[in-house]
Amino acid sequence: MTQATPRSRRVLAAAALLPAVLLAACGGARPGGAAPDAGCCGQAVLANGLRIAERYHVGAIGSRRFTHADYWAAIAPSLASADLRTDAVGRSMLGRELRTVTFGTGPVRVLLWSQMHGDESTASMALADIFRFLAEGTGDPLRTRLHDGLTVVFLPMLNPDGAELFQRENAAGIDVNRDARRLATPEARALKSVHEGFHPDFGFNLHDQGARTRVGAAGLQSGIALLAPAYDDARSWNASRARARLVAATLAELFGHAIAGRVAKYDDTFNHRAFGDLMEQWGTSTVLIESGALPGDGDKQRLRALNVAAILGALDAIATGSYRKADPAAYERLPYNTSGASDLLVSGGSLVLPGQPPLRADVAINYEDAVARTGARIRDVGDLADAVALDTLDAAGIFIHPDSSALTRRNGGTWLRIGARAVLDLRRGPDSASALVRRIGP
Ligand SMILES: [Zn+2]
Repeated sequence: MTQATPRSRRVLAAAALLPAVLLAACGGARPGGAAPDAGCCGQAVLANGLRIAERYHVGAIGSRRFTHADYWAAIAPSLASADLRTDAVGRSMLGRELRTVTFGTGPVRVLLWSQMHGDESTASMALADIFRFLAEGTGDPLRTRLHDGLTVVFLPMLNPDGAELFQRENAAGIDVNRDARRLATPEARALKSVHEGFHPDFGFNLHDQGARTRVGAAGLQSGIALLAPAYDDARSWNASRARARLVAATLAELFGHAIAGRVAKYDDTFNHRAFGDLMEQWGTSTVLIESGALPGDGDKQRLRALNVAAILGALDAIATGSYRKADPAAYERLPYNTSGASDLLVSGGSLVLPGQPPLRADVAINYEDAVARTGARIRDVGDLADAVALDTLDAAGIFIHPDSSALTRRNGGTWLRIGARAVLDLRRGPDSASALVRRIGP
């Protein structure tokens, strides 16, 4: 193009050049160089990671529900790489093989495990893309740093029987993440034995949390929650947990560049039965990443890409040692996760029931699938002025006309039953023929 480049295009071109330069600066060994500005680098690291997520996206895994067979078939081409080693490390209750994938020859040992809760698949998707990057991205400086600095063991989809049904528990109905002490399940025993054989310096405990979790008391929906778990009831800090906090701070900064205001801190009460907490007790600096939900991301594909970018960024920071320069406050100042919100609050309207004058009533709604926001159901009706919801619809001056399918009739009364499908027409007036403003459900 010979004409003057439009400004927007120039900015994009400049941005595309930035990461390589900044990554070199961030990568540690800069003789005589001052510590680079963390803000600039975090942004560049994230941008580079997102480009990797896009370029090495494993298309065969396109939705958050997939089976053990789907998963291992999708990543098989990557696992053919001579730089990735696959080992069988046990079997699930129903006999599905549990496998680790190992990459790198470096001195620092990192263990990542995903989907010990079968319906928490975001990180498994991200690991599929990371395997493809590690297999195909030869020559990429990031891959070289990871290869030379780290030995990484991945244990994806630790609970394949739960994944088959997209349920939290394993095939015995046991929550594998409450079995780290007793080790009654083969899945928990497999993770424990991998840990004992490998002695990782760092651990990544990869989960998904409920979509109704907010950042702080009344903040936005949590896209990500992070934790450097406690190793005792007093929630003490030792060198290992302090290292984990620096990794969590690195992650907080990376995610914060993409989803500011949507990153929270997970409750750090010590859990005597949970793997993250016990890994920390066993001497591994462990971080928990909980993928929540983002508006318009019903299949968690944006969260998947953000996981790819943030996990690679954190691994790079561990490989180069740059995580030591992270500010613990970037983690500590995150507001805590808060639960209990409704998905949608229709606030300030008047409810129109057959044969009754309209009456003031707010309506709270929860979705059956809170991530995809489908299957609206009535959660509460009445004075909900103090209720907290992820979304609020201001219905002041509006009349709420429930569809007859949403109404219960008994003993001469007609009402909007809690738990009923929320099929509501919001209209300008009390008359059912008045102008429709919006329809909620089905
Ligand atoms: Zn979980």
